[in-house]
Amino acid sequence: MTTTSSRARFTGDGRIDFERVDLGPVAPGEVRLRVDVCALCGSDKRLLAAGSPVVPGHEIGGTVVAAGEGVQVPAGTRAIVYIPVYCGTCVRCAAGLTNQCLDLGQLVGWQRDGGFAEHVDVPARCVLPVPDDVPLDVAVLGLDTVGTAAHALRLARRTRDGDVARALVVGAGPLGLGVVAVAPHLGVGEVHAYDPHPGRLATAVRLGASAAGDLTRENQYDLVVEVSGAAAARETAQRVVTPGGTVVALGESNEPYTMPATPRWRRTDCFTVRSFYFPISEVPENWALLRAVGATLRDTLTHPLPLADLPEAFARFVAGDHVKPCIVTEDAR
Ligand SMILES: [Zn+2]
Ligand SMILES: [Zn+2]
Repeated sequence: MTTTSSRARFTGDGRIDFERVDLGPVAPGEVRLRVDVCALCGSDKRLLAAGSPVVPGHEIGGTVVAAGEGVQVPAGTRAIVYIPVYCGTCVRCAAGLTNQCLDLGQLVGWQRDGGFAEHVDVPARCVLPVPDDVPLDVAVLGLDTVGTAAHALRLARRTRDGDVARALVVGAGPLGLGVVAVAPHLGVGEVHAYDPHPGRLATAVRLGASAAGDLTRENQYDLVVEVSGAAAARETAQRVVTPGGTVVALGESNEPYTMPATPRWRRTDCFTVRSFYFPISEVPENWALLRAVGATLRDTLTHPLPLADLPEAFARFVAGDHVKPCIVTEDAR
């Protein structure tokens, strides 16, 4: 039996086309998911502008409909997709640190087809089964929004002797808001947030942050999580961090990553931490975090739309009307 399936193509300059394809048999070692939820990510805007040779979409939740040879995952399994196609055999993978894989292959939605589609095929090892009590539209937030945020904070905690008294989150997009939401559960006392967009800042405050005060003053925070990727935000982070403190560089943009070697920067003794995604070993703890904050995050951030409305979802995302649009089907909740 052939399955036909719709999927989106980003052809550059903000254009999205849809195509209908016949799906062949599932490749050995892979699993076919019916996509029930695929969240839009800020990084997808880069693909929207530049175009993509593969189907984008990398925050995927779905239901297993078929499995290739050698795969044990039963049909009907609800799952989210871990996007780094890690090797599974190197020393880092063996330790569960799959985001540090020494032979990291493709990323789903970046170098192989992702989830802005009715179906997606992924390697079986990238399938993370979702606990029964977690709805799929909450589970997808366990990827970039909570998974990446929580891992960054766990990594930052390793530079600290104890808890973090005061943290600043610079940039209140979906990832920054994820950091705001999980920080109190990961040993952070006071959480402050800054964003030049008043609506985003208000959302951070609704999720429990205090609006940051005067950020021209030096030495205010023992942890600063820079989530915007903007050069000005990096300078701010470096100014307000206390000596001995930690700056987490979590934001990404297409701009070169620069840091002006100001006298302040030269004379600051501190940690700079870069983190990428999250290791599979943290997934069980992340389900616990999602049980605590996931439904609130979903209700505060996400806007469900059908796949056919993907162009509109991106238009509203780019305009800043919607914090985190999600492509969903009826079965997601
Ligand atoms: Zn992303
Ligand atoms: Zn590996």
